[in-house]
Amino acid sequence: MTAPSDASFEPVRDTLGRPLRNLRLSVTDRCNLRCSYCMPEPDYVWLPRSELLTFEELARVVRIFSSLGVDRVRLTGGEPLLRQELPELVRRVAAGPGLRDLALTTNGVLLEALARPLREAGLTRVTVSLDTLRPDRFQALTRRDEHARVLAGIAAVRELGWPGLKLDTVVLRGRNDDELLSLLAFAKEQGAELRFIEYMDVGGATRWRREDVVSRAEMLERISAEHGAVEPLHEEGLPGGVRGRAPAERFRLSDGTTFGIIASTTAPFCRTCDRSRVTADGTWFLCLYARAGLNLRQALRGGASDETIAQLVRLGWKGRTDRGAEQRLALQHREPLADVAELREDPRLEMHTRGG
Ligand code: SAM
Ligand code: SF4
Ligand code: SF4
Repeated sequence: MTAPSDASFEPVRDTLGRPLRNLRLSVTDRCNLRCSYCMPEPDYVWLPRSELLTFEELARVVRIFSSLGVDRVRLTGGEPLLRQELPELVRRVAAGPGLRDLALTTNGVLLEALARPLREAGLTRVTVSLDTLRPDRFQALTRRDEHARVLAGIAAVRELGWPGLKLDTVVLRGRNDDELLSLLAFAKEQGAELRFIEYMDVGGATRWRREDVVSRAEMLERISAEHGAVEPLHEEGLPGGVRGRAPAERFRLSDGTTFGIIASTTAPFCRTCDRSRVTADGTWFLCLYARAGLNLRQALRGGASDETIAQLVRLGWKGRTDRGAEQRLALQHREPLADVAELREDPRLEMHTRGG
């Protein structure tokens, strides 16, 4: 296989010319929280354990995707820190060729003890999800009393002097939207960059309602009411003023604080989307909103060579037309993508299976 570092290397492109660059790799569908926008139900159907990819298989998947141009990988879940021996997986993935960035998205509950081993294993960046600074609210939002442990996890990353810490906040009207400013101040104190995420109607968000979404425009209005002008940062711009490929648009306050907004609901970024997802059982999804994915586990376990699997992925990406969030935006009446019965029928539709 040609290595991405070769001068002759051409990344595979989809029907809209988008290269395959980013991979979100889910390492488990289990979670130790029950966030109301992701896992609101009393119980769940889990992926069969025998179908979860082994570390060897996960590292092989990354190697194959790297050979096609993927140079940024994010480990996610469910809660990725629930996967036993995660630092060992990080070590194996980081040892592969061609990766520029190996990041992790976590709810932070188990991070305090794992921060150092993960960093030593070669993880480059950590993003911690934090929706509130109030323990009582945390309990109401996640149905678990774990706020103190999340804060301890964030502190552990800071104490290591680990650069690139991000905090992700899903903004929900009437639940935590009065904390935009205090969360910004907290992130600044921690040396982290905060990213506000619009509430999305995907996966387990079965209680999603349009009126609960706080839009990017409204967030900016509220922040500038306190901080004055908010300066947009134009980075990684593409010709013609098209936004770069990072999902978050970044902004700067007059005191120099930077933050991001991921406006997938009201201003999606499908035109530049270079990411795909592999679930913990090896199903490859071309879009967060896709109804179906390609079963790579069968190929991985059925004796296919790396080149054969790479060819499957190459062909899949070349035919990609997905613009899920943009299509949702065009709908007149918008309600959750899937209902509870559909999610029970196919847990791969869940956000906690796809990795967000
Ligand atoms: N458990 C880890 C965590 O929460 O960071 C990683 C997996 S979680 C599915 C990844 C991200 O998806 C989290 O930042 C979470 O807040 C986000 N997410 C889940 N459901 C969402 C929804 N309905 N709208 C917007 N973001 C959502
Ligand atoms: Fe919350 Fe992440 Fe767990 Fe979903 S997977 S319930 S967002 S912690
Ligand atoms: Fe990419 Fe699909 Fe999300 Fe659009 S909706 S940004 S195509 S993953």
